Amino acid sequence: MPKIAIYAGHGGSDYGAVSGALREKDFNLAISNATSDILRRLGYDVLNNRTTDVDRNITRDVEMANNQGADALVEIHMNSNEGTPGTGSEAFYSIKDTGKGQALAEAILAGMERLGFVNRGARVHINANGQDTFGILRLTNMPAVLFEAAFINNPQDMQKLNIQSVADVIGGAVARLFPTTAPPVPPNPEWSARIRNIQSTLNSRYGFNLTVDGAPGPLTRSALVKGFQTELNRQFGRNITIDGIFGPETRAATVNVRPGARGNMTFLIQAALFIRGFTDVNPDGVFGPITENAVRQFQRAAGLNVDSIVGPNTQNALFNW
Ligand SMILES: [Zn+2]
Repeated sequence: MPKIAIYAGHGGSDYGAVSGALREKDFNLAISNATSDILRRLGYDVLNNRTTDVDRNITRDVEMANNQGADALVEIHMNSNEGTPGTGSEAFYSIKDTGKGQALAEAILAGMERLGFVNRGARVHINANGQDTFGILRLTNMPAVLFEAAFINNPQDMQKLNIQSVADVIGGAVARLFPTTAPPVPPNPEWSARIRNIQSTLNSRYGFNLTVDGAPGPLTRSALVKGFQTELNRQFGRNITIDGIFGPETRAATVNVRPGARGNMTFLIQAALFIRGFTDVNPDGVFGPITENAVRQFQRAAGLNVDSIVGPNTQNALFNW
C-alpha cells in the first residue's frame, strides 16, 4: 500500500501569509485534512505532520517522511505577494527529482486549472547555494511537491477556493501517479458508517430515497439542502421551493443557527461539515464545542467572518457544492 505524506505548511504560532482575517495556516490545514481523508478512503497509508493548529517542526517532518519510507509527499501552502495580487496555482519539485515529483506537481496544477485557477507552472526553486530553497524538498528523499494552491491576498482566488474541490484534485493526482497495487481496501469503516447514517437519517426524516452507500455524491449533497429547506418551511413557516439548491430564495428565508442549538438544522449543518472533511464532527444534532470549532475553521477557510454563527453567508458557502 503506497504511503503518502500530506503536510500542512506553517501552523500554531507561525500563521504563514496573512491577508485581513485570512491566515494561510488555516487553509493549509483544512486542505491537508480533507486530502488525507480522501486518500485514506482510497486505501492509502497517509502521514500527516499536523492535523490541528499546532507548530510544525521541519526536522521532525522530514524525518517522518524519510524514516517511514513515504512514496510521495505533498506540502500544502497558500501564496501571497506584495503589490497587485498575483493569481493562480503553482508548485515546486526538487532538483533531485527524477520525474515523478514533477509529474505529480503538473497533475495537481492541471486539476486546479480545471477548477478555474491560472496554472503558473511547476518548477524548481533554487537558493544562492544551488540547493532547493524549500527545506521540505531539499531534505526529503522521495518525489515531493510544495504546492501553492492560490493567492491568499487575491479575493477572486479566495472566492473560487473550495477546500473539498482542491482536496479532490490533490487526491486524484496522487491516486493516478501512485496507484495502489494492493487489492481494493474497503473505505474507512467509521467514515462510511457516518455517511450511511446521514443518508438513512435523510431518508427517514424527509422521505428521500437515497441509496445508503456511504458515499456522499451529488444526490446526498442536494438532499442536505432539501432537508434544510424543509426545516425552514416546517419550523419557520416559510414557503420556499424544495429544490436542493441553496440559492437567493433560500438565503433570504434562512435563520441563524448558533452554538448551543439542537435539532434537525444543526444535524444538516454538521453533516455538511463532516462531508467537507471536518471529520471530528459527529452529526448528532447538538451544536457543541467540536461543531463550533469546525464552524470557525470552515469560516476561516472560506474567508468569512469567524463568529461561530451559521448564518446566510456560512450556509451559502457550506451548502453550495
Ligand atoms: Zn506558506
